[in-house]
Amino acid sequence: MPSEPAILCEPPMTITVASSDYTTTTQTPYSELVAKYTTQGPRYTSYPSALQFKQEFTDTNYRQHLDKAGNYAAPLSIYVHIPFCRWLCYYCGCNKIVTKNPNATRQYLDHLAIEIELLSKHICAPRKVSQLHFGGGTPTYLDDAELTELIHLLASHFNFEDSQQREYSIEIDPRTVDDRRLALLRGLGFNRLSFGIQDTDPQVQKAINRVQRTEQIFQLVDAARALRFNSISFNLIYGLPLQSCETLDRSLDDIIALQPDRISLYNYAHLPEHFPPQRAIERHTLPISDEKLAMILLANKRLSEAGYIYIGMDHFVRPTDELARCQKEGRLQRNFQGYSTRLAPDVLGIGVSAISSIGNCYAQNNKDLASYYQKLDAGQLPIDKGLVKTPEDELRAYVIMELACNLGVSAHAFLMKFKHSFWEKFADLLPTLREMQQDGLITISADGIVVSDVGRLMLRNVCMVFDQYLHNGTHSYSKTV
Ligand code: SF4
Repeated sequence: MPSEPAILCEPPMTITVASSDYTTTTQTPYSELVAKYTTQGPRYTSYPSALQFKQEFTDTNYRQHLDKAGNYAAPLSIYVHIPFCRWLCYYCGCNKIVTKNPNATRQYLDHLAIEIELLSKHICAPRKVSQLHFGGGTPTYLDDAELTELIHLLASHFNFEDSQQREYSIEIDPRTVDDRRLALLRGLGFNRLSFGIQDTDPQVQKAINRVQRTEQIFQLVDAARALRFNSISFNLIYGLPLQSCETLDRSLDDIIALQPDRISLYNYAHLPEHFPPQRAIERHTLPISDEKLAMILLANKRLSEAGYIYIGMDHFVRPTDELARCQKEGRLQRNFQGYSTRLAPDVLGIGVSAISSIGNCYAQNNKDLASYYQKLDAGQLPIDKGLVKTPEDELRAYVIMELACNLGVSAHAFLMKFKHSFWEKFADLLPTLREMQQDGLITISADGIVVSDVGRLMLRNVCMVFDQYLHNGTHSYSKTV
């Protein structure tokens, strides 16, 4: 904003304070910042977030957008949702179906086949699929024959990229695979694995009803490396029942010894009124907020000492990982699977509850199997809701994604892209941004905004400043810190 350069360009104070392990750019202790900025907010896997999707957006609207974007030459990303799980994890807040019914998967695969056939008619044949992700639920709930069938189905309808650069990943529940199954997945073309670990402590595992032996995880990771999977990710959670700094410290010993390329460390949100499986967790077994704060500090310290870089929004990566390189080069992006390299601009979601991002629209499939099946049986795409981004949404999405991925936004790049002065456009946000600057989360200048190391830990709060849709409350979102 040209009228404010003197204040905006003010250099930040660099004073080492906070917990002994943390450096902030202010006098404010880290624990006070956490108390101040802990709220609920979107994870910004899209902007606007899925809560803004509207049911007025139908199958017909989606087909029009598919036809428009389907002709692009740019590569495509495909997400396939497999909703089934064999066992119920008590912390679960996902859209899943816990069943041991052997017929459930047959019916589901038959409907995926209809959906794939319908979608493929709108996607121009040469468009390469550079990214593929199987998520759930538990994708490895499918048996070998079913996984093979699904991959063949996709490969016969879409143009699979065959270079080494492609990123084909699958979420793994370690209880459902062995070395032989990993070899099958590699043979089917997957080159990335994402393991649901959560915690390696036996008592914590028992309390969340997800018991998986650590020796087995070591064996699977060894097998994955021998099979030359390009990348291994772990999902961990802190704030689980019976977890403490001591148990987490021991679990981190295991995790660091296993050396995954990427680690997602999520904050457990206990919301039994929204997620019925969580009723099985007794509240008194959960760590209190101070313990959770100590846990995240501990995890940050241990992982950074082990060489991991915190790229923001719960994600740690090794410095050699593609995501770290992309962040350095400004090529990181966020989509419904979290952070990703910018290989493909559009995501085609397939399966119950899957979300697509095509051109300037988002579309979400029905979340319940009955409606999903019914629409496909009637020859319709199973769209429940969606939205078309307005020019204002596009502009704010750009700023939020720049902050979330590249830890800053350039006023010049914004001007070049939108032909609008960044600081004139967002003049009303200056008081909030200045306060964040005083707290050491960001530096603001005529050149734009840069997120500090401490600001990375509160990245969602920084992004939320630019979110136009939070006036109706944030109670449906998870905690930001
Ligand atoms: S946490 Fe994952 S594996 Fe466990 S019940 Fe939920 S979706 Fe299934």
